[in-house]
Amino acid sequence: MYKIDLHTHSVRSPDGRMTKKHYQRIFEEGILDAIAITDHNAISYALEMQSVFGPKIIVGEEVDVRLGNLASKLNTNHNPAEKYEIVGLFLQNQIPPGSDLIGAIDAIHKQHGLVYIPHPNIRQRNGVPFEVLKHPEVLPSIDILEGFNARSLFWTKTNLRGMTFAREYELPYACSSDAHGFNELGSTYTIVNRLPTRSNLLKLLTNAQYAKEPVKPWKFLNPKFNVLSKKLESIKKTIFA
Ligand SMILES: [Zn+2]
Repeated sequence: MYKIDLHTHSVRSPDGRMTKKHYQRIFEEGILDAIAITDHNAISYALEMQSVFGPKIIVGEEVDVRLGNLASKLNTNHNPAEKYEIVGLFLQNQIPPGSDLIGAIDAIHKQHGLVYIPHPNIRQRNGVPFEVLKHPEVLPSIDILEGFNARSLFWTKTNLRGMTFAREYELPYACSSDAHGFNELGSTYTIVNRLPTRSNLLKLLTNAQYAKEPVKPWKFLNPKFNVLSKKLESIKKTIFA
């Protein structure tokens, strides 16, 4: 059995803290068998870690996108400027942030990546709303839906509806930590029976098992704390330079 986490953040995310020594521990201590590094609008650290740890690191990116033209095609009121986040997995090139949803999805697929929808319908976390996901221009392009996000602490009801949505629309789904620090890993993940690759992951997910425990409240503040401590470090550097 292989424990995989498809949505996590390294030190390259402004609010992330995980470094090479953490990935070393993740694999040595068997916390996970494969991990996708999905930094905000960046893939450089993921690429670097993949060159060290090989296929156990999946190169991903959590990209900021805009709803764009699709807004006018929806029945409910939407604004083209609405901001969402989507994840590309198995990427080779960075997807530029700020493009429209459909354009970003196409760019992920063009480089043979997989489209993963994080925290669906949780607007407070820039999750793509269900009515957008259901749109015929979007639904067939979704490869994996996040059925459970360990950091969606305050939106438990919506969080759990992700899995129901995935089952209803027969989408493969994963449960992921969205960890920004090492101590958030290992309680929410997906269990599959092989090491995942671009070509086998979707099939593996049809038969997956899940561990899903929300992050502990004191670990929930990791991203805020990380941003603050990075700021302090850079101030220290300027003062003592
Ligand atoms: Zn994230």
